[in-house]
Amino acid sequence: MIFKVFKKQELARLYELLAVNVIVGPVARGNDRNGKPLYDFDVIYDFNELALDYTQTVHSPKRFVLPYHETLSTFAVSRDNWEKHVDLNVYRPLVFFGMHACDINALNKLDLVLAQSTYPNPYYMGKRKNLFIIGLDCNPEPQCFCRSMGTDSAIHGFDLFLTDLGGKYFAEILSATAFDLLSQINCKEPSAKDHSLYKHATSGKSKHYTAAVDTSDLTKILDLEFESKAWEHWGEKCLSCGTCANVCPTCYCYGVEEHVDLDLKHANKTKSLHSCNLIDFAKVAGGHNFRPKSASRLKYRYYHKHRGFVEAFEESLCVGCGRCGEACLADITPPAVIASVRGKE
Ligand code: SF4
Ligand code: SF4
Repeated sequence: MIFKVFKKQELARLYELLAVNVIVGPVARGNDRNGKPLYDFDVIYDFNELALDYTQTVHSPKRFVLPYHETLSTFAVSRDNWEKHVDLNVYRPLVFFGMHACDINALNKLDLVLAQSTYPNPYYMGKRKNLFIIGLDCNPEPQCFCRSMGTDSAIHGFDLFLTDLGGKYFAEILSATAFDLLSQINCKEPSAKDHSLYKHATSGKSKHYTAAVDTSDLTKILDLEFESKAWEHWGEKCLSCGTCANVCPTCYCYGVEEHVDLDLKHANKTKSLHSCNLIDFAKVAGGHNFRPKSASRLKYRYYHKHRGFVEAFEESLCVGCGRCGEACLADITPPAVIASVRGKE
């Protein structure tokens, strides 16, 4: 990895160099009912719109590579022929300006399934390969348990990663494009003092972590506790609203629908993100529902994240961002659920 440092005022110049592309970044979105500032990712038209001191966005960057709703193909039938039109819905490169490490790691996890598996998803890959990502360091919020999940720092999956050293940024460069861009702004090699400021900044995060998940032997504990009463306990609270999957940066389950126009000459196939907590998630043709109870659906979500995915890819499908717990109206959080399954609460 190559390191550079540059003064903070150079960041606006970097933005201008990238502004020929669509730029997405964190923006302020008012306050919640307790007065806490809310942030989300959105398309940016001016550098000053960027809220680079954001804490955490309500939604993850997922929707820019996995839209909640997407047309996969359209069909047209003429008298003796038919045509299928596939649009990967990739129009221009997209620059992500200021993504935290947990969200970068979430995209890396989605890659394992959607880009690097036996059946890669071309709709995802087209968008993912056209991303230019500028990462940004953060201070953990009370709900963050990314350190427990090993996702509090990113070592790949970005082009450039910036750490705030006070009046300047410490830049980690991972791509040739990022290197070329930085050569067009005023930056220099980091000094020994910059190294020590960087180490101080990263180690200083530790004291901010208040939430944690004990992941030791978690797959085995989950195997042992499949019939635990804890699942009933949380299932009774769960509203089956699907909000947790909506805000989660790594939930990727989806459903596909085909619609035929009334003229019987046109049709389309669409894909919508789904949630395993929704009541019809495991309903199949004929009407049978394999998981009619909220407890079994909630349990399935945890087993996919912390058991099945670990078995398949040797890492969890959770990055510990805590968004699901923050958004849940029933106060269901991964640290509380996993602690209770372990018998700690
Ligand atoms: S766990 Fe919470 S957010 Fe998720 S479906 Fe249940 S009530 Fe909704
Ligand atoms: S399950 Fe919850 S904590 Fe884990 S990545 Fe998804 S939203 Fe974040």
